[in-house]
Amino acid sequence: MKLTENFTINELTYSVTAEANNIDNRPSVEVIANLKALCENVLQPLRNHLGCPIIITSGYRCPQLNKKIGGKPNSQHLKGQAADFVVPQKNLKDVYLYIKSFLSYDQLLFESDKKQKWIHVSFCQNGHNRHQAVDNYPA
Ligand SMILES: [Zn+2]
Repeated sequence: MKLTENFTINELTYSVTAEANNIDNRPSVEVIANLKALCENVLQPLRNHLGCPIIITSGYRCPQLNKKIGGKPNSQHLKGQAADFVVPQKNLKDVYLYIKSFLSYDQLLFESDKKQKWIHVSFCQNGHNRHQAVDNYPA
């Protein structure tokens, strides 16, 4: 099922870890509404600007999955309000800076560990978006 033109529920809920551990990561109606708002307000406008694929590495996480991968207990991934992604065809820092300057978001993090870099972005459909950005967030 499509959330917006280029994003599906499957992309925003799929998890290798969930599959490997038999964790049921199916979203509730409320979570789906939050994922849709995230796509409509941030991910799809970004996709339209970039004109190339955005690869979601982590979207919605049920409590069991969030715990399994060591996510923070209050993570916005638990509500379907956040997604982590990479854009293989673009400079990721440029992508981050574009979002920071031109799009609406709640929290925007340029995250990295020793092996990789990715962007974490969240959006709250209730309108209380903090517009908080951190350029170098250690995972
Ligand atoms: Zn994240």
